[in-house]
Order: sequence, then structure tokens, then C-alpha cells
Amino acid sequence: MDEYDYIVVGAGSAGCVMAARLSADGRHRVLLLEAGPSDRDPWIHVPIGYAKTMFNPVLNWMFRTDADPGMNRRQVYWPRGKTLGGSSAINGLIFIRGQAEDYDDWAAQGNAQWSFEQVLPWFRRLEHNTLGADAWRGTDGPLWSSHIRVRHPLIDAVIAACEEAGIPRNPDFNGARQEGAGYYQLSTRNGFRCSTAVAYLRPARRRPNLRVLTRAQTTRIVFEGRRAVGVEYRPGARADRRDAGTTKASGVTVEAGPPVQVRARREVILCAGALQSPQLLQLSGVGPAALLQSFGIPVVHELPGVGENLQDHLQARVMFRCSRPITTNDQLASLWGRLRIGMEYVFMRGGPMAIGINQGGIFARTRPELTRPDVQFHVATLSSDMAGSPVHAHSGFTMSVCQLRPESRGQVRIRSTDPLEPPSMQPFYLSTDNDRRTAVDGVKLARRLVATRALAPFVIDEYAPGAQAASDADLLEFVRNHGGTIFHPSGTCRMGADALAVVDQQLRVRGVGGLRVVDCSVMPTLVSGNTNVPVVMIAERAAAFVLGDAH
Ligand SMILES: Cc1cc2nc3c(=O)[nH]c(=O)nc-3n(C[C@H](O)[C@H](O)[C@H](O)COP(=O)(O)OP(=O)(O)OC[C@H]3O[C@@H](n4cnc5c(N)ncnc54)[C@H](O)[C@@H]3O)c2cc1C
Repeated sequence: MDEYDYIVVGAGSAGCVMAARLSADGRHRVLLLEAGPSDRDPWIHVPIGYAKTMFNPVLNWMFRTDADPGMNRRQVYWPRGKTLGGSSAINGLIFIRGQAEDYDDWAAQGNAQWSFEQVLPWFRRLEHNTLGADAWRGTDGPLWSSHIRVRHPLIDAVIAACEEAGIPRNPDFNGARQEGAGYYQLSTRNGFRCSTAVAYLRPARRRPNLRVLTRAQTTRIVFEGRRAVGVEYRPGARADRRDAGTTKASGVTVEAGPPVQVRARREVILCAGALQSPQLLQLSGVGPAALLQSFGIPVVHELPGVGENLQDHLQARVMFRCSRPITTNDQLASLWGRLRIGMEYVFMRGGPMAIGINQGGIFARTRPELTRPDVQFHVATLSSDMAGSPVHAHSGFTMSVCQLRPESRGQVRIRSTDPLEPPSMQPFYLSTDNDRRTAVDGVKLARRLVATRALAPFVIDEYAPGAQAASDADLLEFVRNHGGTIFHPSGTCRMGADALAVVDQQLRVRGVGGLRVVDCSVMPTLVSGNTNVPVVMIAERAAAFVLGDAH
């Protein structure tokens, strides 16, 4: 049986960082197991390829939630990356840290080592900011944060509209203050996606002490007593799902080989993401005892919090028909427009192909008495029925709004002992008064902004929800019927010290040995913003903890 010092499960945002950092000094043998294929598909690397990978079952798990009562029993589409880089290979590229208070909240919940003061140096260390370094930003790290060079009249108008409405202009959401309106920075390097596979794994791939296996789906953690000593995986496992409501069902089908066991001398590190790390723990006997017993799984260690505390950002996409033919919809409508977009990218590494989807951002307070922003807007100079689906034939733009710190909590639970069957995912969106109120207030704020002097001239009318949705009840119904994820499920193996915490502050699974979880699932509460960069920070810190323990 093959033996390694560390086995990292899942080569996503966190897993690539872990594999690169743990193998850096050449002293440890590291195995990185990834269920998906390598990241050779060119659409991964060109930012506009977002629309192509969004529904590609080869590179995307294409999950669906259970029928959610808060969404009028709809099953919400939940894409997740399935390739080297994981979700950082298919995401919207927005580079955001969240608010300082998010991390101070983690500290207040029994995780003193994760206060903003403690995590800020790690955020600075991980990034290469194209605008240079200051007290908040770094330039020496592997993960690029690039500014958008070409301004768009519509985004400029949105920023001016915000100023008119009392929301300040903000040139750097990751600087001293997050509140305000401005252009996002993107995880791109010279116009190409900078996933963690590109930033961290590529430079490490030639190391003789690092082995990377793709199309290798881990099926369980192997325990001896209460110590994790390895994992079992299926080489070439058939991981392509055709039953997930796909629009493209041309996945490569590889017959699964017999299961293989590999041993970890020091640690197994789960980086399979907020949906599959808890699934693997439950399948391996770590989780709520009653749930495991109902499937006949022997309980290695009872941890009732595994799979609980699921949180996500729910977006409402408010769309407008634009009075001027300046939107990406217009450019894509003609052959000449598409050629121009292509040339802009080839010769200048700019334009829509270099941006992906969202250019403008707003962090705002829906009520003046709040002390910090409670909603985020993703503003795109295009409109379409779903994120990543074909754009509308008319000129259009989108102001997608999400509540930053939802109170609703859901759960992830296995629905069978088959590791290839996705777990049940139930977000229970909109299950508190505050979440429902903030969803409605967010849509109303979008309406206030388009009514300003700065933005009104760009708007013919509201395409969705549309003028007929007048009352708060109508707007809530719109969110229930059309709202979707902004792709940040988190919190299902939360860190802490109480009975429901799954990992401790150093991300060791409580009550068992040789096992950590390092990914989005350890967040006790969702950060106020997009989650990729916070996950990279978590992994950078975790790698230091692991190496500290080893030495
Ligand atoms: C469509 C989309 C758009 C997004 N947009 C943004 C954005 O603009 N900005 C931002 O900051 N964040 C964004 N996010 C969120 C962000 O990308 C994720 O929060 C982050 O990548 C999560 O990192 P992770 O390491 O927890 O999981 P992932 O990156 O999802 O990694 C998990 C990895 O584990 C693998 N895996 C799972 N199970 C197994 C198994 N059993 N065996 C082996 N391998 C396994 C998966 O294939 C995957 O590669 C977006 C996400 C999506 C899906």
C-alpha cells in the first residue's frame, strides 16, 4: 500500500494551497486526490468561459438542493467545481475578503486565533495586487487580484447613482473600509483566470514529493480506532452525473477501477468543500450518531454538528432593459460585436472576455441604523435568465443583490451509503424574518438606485421582477420563485469549542486523531462577501498549523 505523510482530499481552492505548502520544503510526501479531471479545458482559463463551465458535467458537479420550502419548494441549482482548482476554476473571479467584523465574530465564537488582526497578515501574504501594496494589501503572494482597466459607462453610472443615494464611492473593497460602490478586482493574471491550481499547484507540480491524482474520488476515510490512517479512493471513478438537470450531458465516462487504499503517516486533510467534506465524514462514521445508524454505518465518533450549520448567500437578480446599445448583450448579438470582443481580448487582454460576468460592486446598508453593510450587489452589464445562461436579445443589465449575513441555517446529510450519490442539501433559505425582510429591502434598494438622476437615463423599464410586483409580498414571492445561490455554501464542519463544533481552532476534527478539515465548511459564520479568498486564507493558515505540528 502506498504511504504518504499527508493525504489531501480535493484539489479545490483550499486543497491546491495545502498540497503546495505542505510539499514546499521537500521533507514530506504529499498525495493530492481530485475527483475531477485536470484543468486543461481552455474555457476554464478565459474568464468568459464561466458561462461554458457553469453547465458542463465534466468540470462541474451540478448539484441541486432538496425542494426548499422557503423557495416555494424549488430545487435550487448549485454548481461546484470538479477539476484542479475546484470551484476557483469555475467561479466568477471576484476578489473579496469580507469585513473585519466577520473575523472578529469568529473570534468571539471561541476562535480567538481568527480575529481580523490575526488573519490580515495572511490575506496580505497570499495576494499579488496589481495596484500595489499598502497596510491592507499585498503584492508578494501567488494569487493575483487584478483591477479592471477599462471603465464601462453603465458601471460608472451605477457608482454615480450610489453617490446620489448616499452610498460612497469606494476604490478598494479590500482596503480600510468595505462599504461603498466601485469596480471589483478579479482573480486574473494578464487576462487569464488565476485559480488556486494556477497560482499554487502549477509551480509545485514538478516536486518529486508531491503526487497529484485526478479522476480519483475518495470514497471513505480509513480509521484505526479513532485515528485516521488513510483513505480509500476509486481511480477513474465515474463521477459525471447525468441526472442533475444538465443542459449538456456529454461527460466522459470512465469505468471505475477497484477501490484503492493509501495510508497517511501523519494526517488526512479533507478539502472536498462544504458539501462533500461533511458527506465523507458521515460516510466514514463521524457525524450525528442517529443518522449514521439509520444507514448501518458504524459510529467511529459521534459529532452531531457534521453537516449542520449550512449557510449560503441567496441572490435576487433584478434586471433592467437598457436604453442604450452599450451592454454585453448588444455586443454578443452581432458577428461584428463578437469579433470586436475577441480582438479586444487577443490584443489587449481586456473587454468582456477578460472580465467574465460582474464588473461593478456595491456594499450597502438597507437601513441607516445598521453599523455595517448587510447587502452586496453584483452588477453586470448583461442580462440572462440564469447566471451563466445565454444573454437576452434586448439591451440589458443586472443588479443582483444578496444578504451578506443570513440567519437561515440548513444541513447536508447523506441519503445513502453510496459515496457517488450526492448528499441531501437543504439550505432552508429565507427561514427568518430578518432574512425575508433583507431580501425585500435589497430589491427595493436596486429600484431606488435606478430611479436616480445618474442611472434613470439608462433604463427603459424593469425586466424582472417588473412593475407589476409592487408590494413587499410581491417582491418576496419574486425572490422565492426566482432567487438562486450566489454560490457560497459554507459552515457545515464549523470550527469552535462547543458541542456542535466539528473542528477546533487549528481545524483538527474534534475527538479523532490524524484528521483535519480545511475548506469553506469550517467557517462558523459566512463572511460578508465572496468566499474564495477567505478559503485561500484559511488554507494558508491551516498549512502553517500542520507544518508547525510536524516540526
Ligand atoms: C459558479 C461559482 C461562482 C463563484 N463565484 C465566486 C467569486 O466570484 N468570488 C469568490 O470569492 N467566490 C466565488 N465562488 C465561491 C468560491 O469559489 C468557493 O467558495 C470556493 O472555491 C470553495 O473552496 P473549497 O476549497 O471549500 O471547495 P472547492 O473549491 O469546491 O473544492 C473542492 C474540491 O474537492 C473535490 N472533491 C469533492 N469531493 C471529492 C472526493 N470525494 N474525492 C476527491 N475530490 C473531491 C472537488 O471536485 C473540488 O475540486 C463561486 C463558486 C461557484 C461554484
